[in-house]
Amino acid sequence: MAHKIDAANCVACGCCQSVCPAEAISAGDAYSIDPDKCLDCGACAAQCPNSAISPA
Ligand code: SF4
Ligand code: SF4
Repeated sequence: MAHKIDAANCVACGCCQSVCPAEAISAGDAYSIDPDKCLDCGACAAQCPNSAISPA
């Protein structure tokens, strides 16, 4: 399992990327999570100002 970013709700603020301990999050018009790297810690979801991240 891995956390997932809903691209439609991502405002590309970068808050999630800066707290990820696994460097699993990539920048873009909408940020994205590499499921092979994600540790499912939930740190990114707690930081997202737009509730765009959820457990998959
Ligand atoms: S759940 Fe944790 S490991 Fe996975 S992308 Fe979010 S911060 Fe990174
Ligand atoms: S914290 Fe939320 S809105 Fe900001 S880049 Fe990450 S997923 Fe997108």
